[in-house]
Amino acid sequence: MMTQLPPWLTTPWAQWNQTLYPKGHAYLLSAPKGIGIEQFVAFAVQKALCQQPTEQGACQQCQACHLQQSGQHPDYYHLTRLEDKKEISVDQVRGLVGKLNETSHQGGYKVIWIEGIERLNQSAFNALLKTLEEPAAQTLFLLTTHDIGRLPETIKSRCQLINFPPPVLPDAIRWLQQALPNMDAPLIKRALRLNWGAPQDALAWIEADKMAEDAQWKSGLKQLQAGQKTVSQVVAEWLKWSSPVSVFDYFYLWSVSAVRSVTYAEAFQANALPAEQRVQLQNWLAFQQATLQAKQYWLKNANKELVLETLCLEWLEVQQNTTTFQSTFESNLQKGKLA
Ligand SMILES: [Zn+2]
Repeated sequence: MMTQLPPWLTTPWAQWNQTLYPKGHAYLLSAPKGIGIEQFVAFAVQKALCQQPTEQGACQQCQACHLQQSGQHPDYYHLTRLEDKKEISVDQVRGLVGKLNETSHQGGYKVIWIEGIERLNQSAFNALLKTLEEPAAQTLFLLTTHDIGRLPETIKSRCQLINFPPPVLPDAIRWLQQALPNMDAPLIKRALRLNWGAPQDALAWIEADKMAEDAQWKSGLKQLQAGQKTVSQVVAEWLKWSSPVSVFDYFYLWSVSAVRSVTYAEAFQANALPAEQRVQLQNWLAFQQATLQAKQYWLKNANKELVLETLCLEWLEVQQNTTTFQSTFESNLQKGKLA
């Protein structure tokens, strides 16, 4: 057996074996990032190529399985965005289609995994569409996406759609505890929250020692509030991280907890929130929006230092102010500032 599937993928895998496969030639697998859809695809690919597959999957013994295990099966094609490109190009798709028109090397299925199908540009979609409409016999397309909203209807309607929900929290926690037996439970929960409930992302986050950054983020804000550090000093520390864009997630989740602490309170439930707290709630919600907009700036290659410093100052403002807070990000977004 190759590596095991995580527990939240075992039911989908059983469904795949019992009812879903092989009912069609093209499947669209929609899953959140970081839950291991890539592993599921690896299982499905190997089963399709295997010469004696069973109800449980590939046999692991035959020549096809050995070829696939060593990454050398000639009838398997993996298409993804090239490292330096934002999109999957029409040339990539045409190259693939050309190969599919040749006969299969091993006399069985040709299996294609297109990873991040939403990254096809318009002409690449069109090139693929023809092949999906008139597939050659014994061809299996597995298309994966973390962002199904970006896919044209024409593609969706030609595939069998399978949705993979994110794992429930107790499953995710249990899996992480098994992977990291010495890790504290609160840290595991925080890692999951910061990674949007995606266990494999949370694991990678912990293994990359991101907790140290998380702690630095918190202590930076404390020092800022206490006047022990300036905004630019704090931001300079964050910018040294391997992936400073995480700052936005930290701020966002902070605002989510802040909002929750108010909305879960009895006064809120009874519709009797004091005026001051109502303003505070509004401000936290506005700040939540600001973090999302700030992240948009960041991703658009705005002046990164300026974006973070502005967000940091807005955070301070929300902390200190009892009057209505208005983020500068939205109006600046319209005026095209901060660019
Ligand atoms: Zn086999």
